Parts: sequence; C-alpha cells; structure tokens
Amino acid sequence: MTARDLGLPDRYPAAAGLPARVLIWEVGARDGLQNEPTLVPVGVKVEFLDRLAAAGLRVLEATSFGHPRWVPQLADAAELLRLLTPREGVRYPVLVPNERGLDRAVAAGASEIAIIASATESFAHRNLNRSLDAQFAMFAPVLSRATADGLRVRGYLSMCFGDPWEGAVPLKQVLSVGRRLLELGCDQLCLGDTIGVATPGHVGAVLEGFIRVGVGVDALAVHFHDTYGQALANTFAALCAGVSCVDASAGGLGGCPYAESATGNLATEDLVWLLDGLGIEHGVDLNALVHTSVWMAHQLGRPSPSRVLAALGGSSRTTNPPGHCS
Ligand code: MG
Repeated sequence: MTARDLGLPDRYPAAAGLPARVLIWEVGARDGLQNEPTLVPVGVKVEFLDRLAAAGLRVLEATSFGHPRWVPQLADAAELLRLLTPREGVRYPVLVPNERGLDRAVAAGASEIAIIASATESFAHRNLNRSLDAQFAMFAPVLSRATADGLRVRGYLSMCFGDPWEGAVPLKQVLSVGRRLLELGCDQLCLGDTIGVATPGHVGAVLEGFIRVGVGVDALAVHFHDTYGQALANTFAALCAGVSCVDASAGGLGGCPYAESATGNLATEDLVWLLDGLGIEHGVDLNALVHTSVWMAHQLGRPSPSRVLAALGGSSRTTNPPGHCS
C-alpha cells in the first residue's frame, strides 16, 4: 500500500525554510550489516546494494576495511567492491579505520572513504584504543594521503550528543573535535548520535554551534539512532537548521531491536516518508525501497524495525520467530 492508495498525495508542497533537496546517505550495507549477528553472503550484499541503487539512492556506504578480526561481517570488503557493478551517478564510500585500511581500500578500487572519530575520551579509548588527542595522529596520514590522491573523505564524529560512560558531552568539545577533523581535510563532518539520546532542541543547539564558529551547514551531515524514538524529530530539527545530507539505513538495519544495549539506525523508509510530507526532493522510489528492505528482512530471517516498512510492506514480517541476537 502506498500514500496514494491511502488517498494521500505522494508529496506535499515544499515547506518554507527547509532544504529543497536532501541527499540520503544510505548506511545499511555497512553500518547495518556490520552489526548483524550472522554473516551475510557477499552475493546478497551486492544484490542489496544494487537494489538500493535501482531504488534511487545515490550514496551507498558499501563496506568497511576494518580489520577482519574486529569486523568479521565485512571481511569480504575487497571482494564486494570487485563484484559491484558501477552505476552512473552512484557513489560507494567505504569506511577506513587507519592507514592499513586505506591501503586495502585503495587497492580494491575505492574512490571515496569515511573515517570514524570520537567526540569523547571514553569512546576514543574503547572504540579506537587511543586517547581523544591521539586519534588525530592516526587520522592525519590517512587524510593527507587520501586527499592527495583525490579521494573524497567523510569524517564521522561519534557521541556528539551523549556518551554512555561520560553522560553529557560539552558542546565546546564537540565543536573543537569536529573542527579539527575538517581542518585535517575531511570534506564533510557527520555528527553521530551513537546511542540515540539526542532531542530536537539539542540537535538545534549543536548545529547552531557549528554554524556560529564558521562551519558551513553544507559541510555537515547527521546520523541519528532511534533508541528513544527521536530520530525523525531530530532529523526535522536538522533540516530546520539547513542540513541537507541525512544518514539512514534501509529497513532500519543496524543494532539489534531485541537487545537492550543496541540501538537502531533511522530507517530510510521512515526518512523518505517524512521528506515526502515536507515536499523535499530525495530521488528515492519508496515502493522499490520497501521491496528491497522486505527482501533483506527475509535474507536475515527477522522483521525490520521500520514503522513505514511495517505499514507498507506487510510481508516484511518473516515466518521465522523474532531473531535472538547474540
Ligand atoms: Mg549508526
């Protein structure tokens, strides 16, 4: 069933003061699948990406060149890139944790990368095994080599809105780490609500902070998790601040909806429904996207947490019992 089947317009007139067009940065194949308890065959990943591209998504974060020991779900990164059929106008950035990852990504033909930095000391130690300050020493050579080679680089900044070990994260610290990433050569800074605790007022304050210190809103993207059901409200706050690049994961892949400690990414279907309601262009065929996520839910053997997918893609409910994530 579609909006039209429900007697609703496909899209509303553009809302004043919001971006006319939003670029959806699809992270399902990387951020989603890296958290899956089971290994997904490379052929399924390739088909997933190909279907997403056919649905109109233009930036597909494809995989990670993290050490296979730490990210076994994406150990097939090089093979995946080899098997992908390039499509005109579709970008396939890959995650690169360090110089060794950059070597592997470049050898596999990647032309665009992303790095993940931490806004907090605790997460830098836990996720990167180094201090907040020392993370820049790791990223500096990656960025200088990547930019010299003409690679586009996105800098993710984790824990911008709250940290499970430190609680609130001072805005000054978020601004300082974010600006250092841009100064090192990142083309774009993606602000991550890694544990999903952000609220719209907080999102507005952080974005306003970056704009106030001279960071152009065009250089910013947002990455929300729906832990407390705020991902769409937070997205709206970001749109109101002028952000026009929003991360989402097809079917809400990422984290495990059954595990207390895991948090799901904003579902691309939910984002598309919101953007349609605001008259914002995005280029995605919602039906094709829903079919893709329903297909992927069957591959994974568990239903998607996306509300829009549940409403439109009835068959996303698999016949298997709900997954028991390890
Ligand atoms: Mg995420």
